[in-house]
Amino acid sequence: MNQLVKAVDPSKCKYKVRSTDVWHPRRQCNKAPKLDGYCLQHHPDALAKRKREADARWKAKCDEMDAAAKRARDDRTRLSLVPEMAALLTRASLGKVVTPELSQQIDTLLAKLPM
Ligand SMILES: [Zn+2]
Repeated sequence: MNQLVKAVDPSKCKYKVRSTDVWHPRRQCNKAPKLDGYCLQHHPDALAKRKREADARWKAKCDEMDAAAKRARDDRTRLSLVPEMAALLTRASLGKVVTPELSQQIDTLLAKLPM
């Protein structure tokens, strides 16, 4: 038998935690077993529940970042259309009348604006 592998101590939780000991990078958790040989923190059901919660938090964070990126893209699009819109509106106000062609150009530009 490999001398470096210690037998599982039944008076402790079965879970192997990370250790700073280079010879034993994984050691048995020191807590008393409460359920199925595991402490409440390391019981597989508790680990799965924490992972589900962490995944949900991560997904919410990603969704939030995606929404922020979309807002930034939309803002850049709006800003990029400002000079063109300003030019069209200036032409409309200088001519004192909105020609059908000018009206069409304004509608086309408005359609490009992100909602
Ligand atoms: Zn444990």
